[in-house]
Amino acid sequence: MDEETTVEDLPGVGPATAEKLKEAGFDDLMSIAVSSPSALVEAAEIGEATAVKIIAAAKKLANVGGFVTGDVIMENRRHISKLLTGSKALDELLGGGIETCAITEFFGEFGSGKTQITHQLCVNVCRPEEDGGLNGHTIFIDTENTFRPERIVQMAMAYELDATSVLQTIHVARAFNSHHQMLLIDKAKEIAKEFPIKLLIMDSLTAHFRAEYIGRGSLADRQQKLNKHLHAILQFADINKSAVAVTNQVSAKPDAFFGDPTRAIGGHVLGHTSTFRLYLRKSKGNRRIARLIDSPNLPEGEAVFTVSEDGVRD
Ligand code: ADP
Ligand code: MG
Repeated sequence: MDEETTVEDLPGVGPATAEKLKEAGFDDLMSIAVSSPSALVEAAEIGEATAVKIIAAAKKLANVGGFVTGDVIMENRRHISKLLTGSKALDELLGGGIETCAITEFFGEFGSGKTQITHQLCVNVCRPEEDGGLNGHTIFIDTENTFRPERIVQMAMAYELDATSVLQTIHVARAFNSHHQMLLIDKAKEIAKEFPIKLLIMDSLTAHFRAEYIGRGSLADRQQKLNKHLHAILQFADINKSAVAVTNQVSAKPDAFFGDPTRAIGGHVLGHTSTFRLYLRKSKGNRRIARLIDSPNLPEGEAVFTVSEDGVRD
């Protein structure tokens, strides 16, 4: 991509439209190229046909969206890195760790270790690559008020890291409702311009959606919002080459509305967007079992890990 080419250079984008697009977070060609026409229509108050044209031009300039041969994809995938989890068994189950440019979903009942894993990943991601980290910062979107800096301190100390320096790499925001949660992704994009964000945590992805959209009548609406949100998250991951870990609570007993407890809520929408889905359950003592449910290139399987004061381990 030509470094000099900007949003203003797109056909059909005058200064006023460019301004509106930028305000809505569409401030580079890539973010426009991967957007949907309706998102641009809303952001820039332009017609659908213009939006389609703008996206097509951005795709061309940013070189995305056409057919490519498998070897090119193979080459592109060489830029994908893995973030270690703290447990070798879990890393192995994930094919070497949490992949960047993808969404990894941890679902399970209360206390199954979802939040512990998110905290461990925050600590791991700031470590250098030779230690299984990505030398990066974290955006942590907390919907259940369960982010605990004290826990980060414990986990950092277990690696003999300076706890304050680790805390300074974690950018935490509370999301008060699903709408706010969605807006925080735009905020995250801003922060990612200033800091090397290599991990996005959404703990929990679904709690607000689940609480706000109750009853069968609102199911379609909820799925549509969740879908939009997930695409914004995936776009964030692509642009920043960051890893994404989201959590999703399921109840232990079958639920009339949400159905089988081993199937996460979010239904098909989430199932098709998450690249890796891990179902967590409690075992004896501090042991937890993770089951890989769905992966484009890995066999299904299980791993046992533990959660101790030091964090996530084998
Ligand atoms: P959820 O899946 O609901 O997010 P959590 O990840 O919060 O569950 O897991 C909570 C569990 O993590 C606790 O029940 C406990 O077993 C373990 N845990 C939390 N903090 C510590 C700690 N400091 N030392 C050891 N284990 C801990
Ligand atoms: Mg939790």
